[in-house]
Amino acid sequence: MHDVPGLLAVHAHPDDEVIATGGVLARAASEGRRTKVVTCTDGSRGEIVGEGMDPDEIRPRLAEVRAGEIADALALLGVDEHEFLGYRDSGMMGDEGNDDPASFWRADVHEAVGRLVRSIRDFRPAVVVTYDAFGGYGHPDHIQAHRMAVLAVEAARTASLYPEAGDPWHVAKLYLSSFPKSAIAEANRQFAEAGLPSPFGETDDPADIPMGTEDHLVTTTVDVRDHMAAKQAALRAHVSQIAPSSFFLNVPEPMVEGFYGTEWFVRRLSAVDAPTPEDDLFAGI
Ligand SMILES: [Zn+2]
Repeated sequence: MHDVPGLLAVHAHPDDEVIATGGVLARAASEGRRTKVVTCTDGSRGEIVGEGMDPDEIRPRLAEVRAGEIADALALLGVDEHEFLGYRDSGMMGDEGNDDPASFWRADVHEAVGRLVRSIRDFRPAVVVTYDAFGGYGHPDHIQAHRMAVLAVEAARTASLYPEAGDPWHVAKLYLSSFPKSAIAEANRQFAEAGLPSPFGETDDPADIPMGTEDHLVTTTVDVRDHMAAKQAALRAHVSQIAPSSFFLNVPEPMVEGFYGTEWFVRRLSAVDAPTPEDDLFAGI
């Protein structure tokens, strides 16, 4: 089984796996590849917006609720394995959760990298995906996931680091999930045309959008149209996190393909010969 090149996605909270990487996970699974998601935190500081859910009642057991939700979501995507890295949700930047010693934002670098190194050496993925340096949109746990994943990929191949965490493993390709600025501008234009508020703010000038990646830096554009239904179903499985009125569940039909049908990445490293631009995370492997 270990001979089939696998895909490992490192994410911050339960539900993050769907929007930016749900398609590549489902696609890899459908191609018979091994797939795994590591979720660094328990998501215990997430907003509780699920239909009919009483936030006061759910809050004390939100981590448990979200563990159930991500299990359902990953089953819908066809993902084989899941692991919680064991940290507490830090909350948004500036939130009091940022100071919690058990939070991911306060994690000891050596220790957190060690946990991911163990996971990488154990699963032996050909490809790892995580966030860009801004964590997509600036959430502390996403920024931290980027840092730890990049360091762990390097450390995992180095035999003299974390020798107790298993035999060294060389990840062939590392990717940062990204959203090209042009795609954000186009989504904003379409949302405006449909009379809907945009999730990215009300501008159609890419220069005014704080998130997103300069188009020329995007190396890899993956067609995941065959897996849009699985992505949408997986998103709905995160019941506590997605209000019925959420724009994610109310994307007008003509815009669904634009919103769910493509996933973009910046290739951070490759040990194989694969020219860019490319349209497959496994190109050259
Ligand atoms: Zn998140």
